[in-house]
Amino acid sequence: MPKIILENVSKKFANGFVAVDNLNMVIEDRAFVTLLGPSGCGKTTTLRMIAGLETPTSGTITIDGQVVFDAESGINVTPDKRDIGFLFQNYALWPHMTVYRNIAFGLENLHWSKPDIEKRVAELLDILQISEFKERYPSELSGGQQQRVAIARTLAPRPKVLFMDEPLSNLDAKLRGEMRTELKRLHIDTNSTFIYVTHDQLEAMTLSSKVCLMKQGVLQQYAPPLEIYNHPCNIFVADFMGNPAINLLHATVMRQEEQTAELNLGEHKVKFLSDTKLPKIPADIILGIRPEHIKLTSEPKLTARIYATLPTGMETTVKLKADEQIITAVVFGSVDFQVDETVNIDFAENKILLFEQSNGKLIA
Ligand code: ATP
Repeated sequence: MPKIILENVSKKFANGFVAVDNLNMVIEDRAFVTLLGPSGCGKTTTLRMIAGLETPTSGTITIDGQVVFDAESGINVTPDKRDIGFLFQNYALWPHMTVYRNIAFGLENLHWSKPDIEKRVAELLDILQISEFKERYPSELSGGQQQRVAIARTLAPRPKVLFMDEPLSNLDAKLRGEMRTELKRLHIDTNSTFIYVTHDQLEAMTLSSKVCLMKQGVLQQYAPPLEIYNHPCNIFVADFMGNPAINLLHATVMRQEEQTAELNLGEHKVKFLSDTKLPKIPADIILGIRPEHIKLTSEPKLTARIYATLPTGMETTVKLKADEQIITAVVFGSVDFQVDETVNIDFAENKILLFEQSNGKLIA
């Protein structure tokens, strides 16, 4: 049964600014949904509307079969009655309480019995691997440990839905990486629905079961991360997902058949292969190809000059120049190229995407 349904939800602020524009979305039970997009696209506003902290201007929101907001009938269930938990950037732990008390406190307020509280806190200390810190105060913990206490406290009353707004943004890069693994594991262990806000595409990619990618208040694509990565619905989405970014190159279509097309990229010919029947492709298009689908080859294919190499140890980003366009390739391991050296490159023909030049929409 679907858990959260947003129907035609919009938010227009008092100054007339439309932060969220007619959003329709179904968040399945136990999903890990990430609201993703550039700063100001409406992610936090969307999260706050689902949670009941912001009143939509129009639309309907249903949580677990109950209408919690409906603009027309005036239904607006308060956040405390929506059975949700929050985790924000600043963990807001009580400094004068031990880890144990920080987690137990909310349950005491909900009048849980003492044995039930003890059992639940022990369970959470165990899941989050913080049992050894239970008698410590927040000031005696690292950022990552405090984070885990905050998560335990939020999960304690077993909220149906857990909301997280950029919860990892205060942590250093290494800890962020570790916490990503913890969050993913936690999602499986708790059986809850997670709704997560981030502007970090890597975080969205690695964590989510589905990504809701927004731009200027408008939903662009709502799908599993790999589907968005491999079949982005437009150039904005293609460019936002993936680092290094997808190559977007001007090309012309010379010939097209049912499932293949021959493209010109400046002086070079590139073959395009689709696994479905192609629609009519306009003559001028934008060709999209991910850096990992560009191969450096000894065969005389497309020639390019080495513009720069950026090794990370595990892989090397190779910037190439072909027909005055910069092309990014990623190869595994380290490679040794001289600047301006001529190399041959090849495109994985069945990995090419074609976009409309006029509106950026995916053609095939
Ligand atoms: P960020 O990643 O920077 O947190 P976001 O995608 O979460 O951004 P929101 O906080 O949802 O963005 O804000 C969406 C837009 O609405 C922004 O352009 C913001 O300036 C605007 N906005 C937010 N609150 C108000 C308000 N009270 N009045 C007017 N405009 C607002």
